[in-house]
Amino acid sequence: MKKTALLFSASLLSSFPLLSHAEIAQTLPIIEKQKQVSGYYQYQAGDVQITALLDGTNFMSPKLFQNIHEKEVHEILKKYYADQDKGVQTSINAFLVNTGHSLVLVDSGAASCFGAHLGSVLSNLKASGYQPEQVDTILLTHLHPDHVCGISQNAVANFPNATVYVSNDEANYWLNPKQVNKLPKEKQAGYLGTVEKIKQAIAPYQAKQRFKTYQLGDQVQGFKVINTAGHTPGHFSYELKTKDETVVFIGDIVHSHTVQFDKPETAIDYDIDPKKAVQTRLKQFAEYATGRQTIAAPHLPFPGIGHIYSADGKSYQWIPVHFKD
Ligand SMILES: [Zn+2]
Repeated sequence: MKKTALLFSASLLSSFPLLSHAEIAQTLPIIEKQKQVSGYYQYQAGDVQITALLDGTNFMSPKLFQNIHEKEVHEILKKYYADQDKGVQTSINAFLVNTGHSLVLVDSGAASCFGAHLGSVLSNLKASGYQPEQVDTILLTHLHPDHVCGISQNAVANFPNATVYVSNDEANYWLNPKQVNKLPKEKQAGYLGTVEKIKQAIAPYQAKQRFKTYQLGDQVQGFKVINTAGHTPGHFSYELKTKDETVVFIGDIVHSHTVQFDKPETAIDYDIDPKKAVQTRLKQFAEYATGRQTIAAPHLPFPGIGHIYSADGKSYQWIPVHFKD
């Protein structure tokens, strides 16, 4: 090894015989801002191909975590080498699943609903070699804008041949006009703002009778639907059995690969029912740590595919997939 390294550096030097270090530095372009390559990653699960699509990166305030002291949040972030400069870094991912007979998009990113730093799902889907017209099914884990807005742009469907599915409970919570009056006064304006974004996103699909709901016990394109309510009242996850492994698209049962794995009883401000969201996470994490399912998660570090491990059944670790080409 050592000999090879020496030979390599000697040949490098001989190719720049007349340049000093300063001169070499001057010939390099100045890179103002780092830009990564296209945000997609393909993972083969048995006979099924999953393409993780990056929508963008968000930064959350550490104050959003509940039932935990802020000092402890910072300690956990530091322990896991999490960059805290701009807040708690969080990916927004969607997943394109080629089952061999169907092309299914699970969640769709935020499009322009939250600003220009998000909204790359569509361009990354094209970069991955697929076309939006090929998508026949969209499964939404819930109707928060970072999951639903990506299905449309300016009232036009991004996926003109797709049928959109969401749980009956979720559709009822956001689309039933009577719902707003059941909420406390201080939550109504925020709720109505979200409803507006949801309605705009789903309108082109509703116009073509391509917006459908399901309930527990149903299957959509071979995906089993799993009730994981708490984060939102009709939040569902999707399980797909492939030839070699079971993959679960968990949705927003977790938002942080550090704080909520170390202390899974920590809720987050985005949870509509924080107590139920914690119960759901504890139940599902325990199941995935023993069942060894492959997990695909919209808010774990891109590509958001990996496994949930626990040494003691109380705290957990996120084990991401290895890069493979
Ligand atoms: Zn989300």
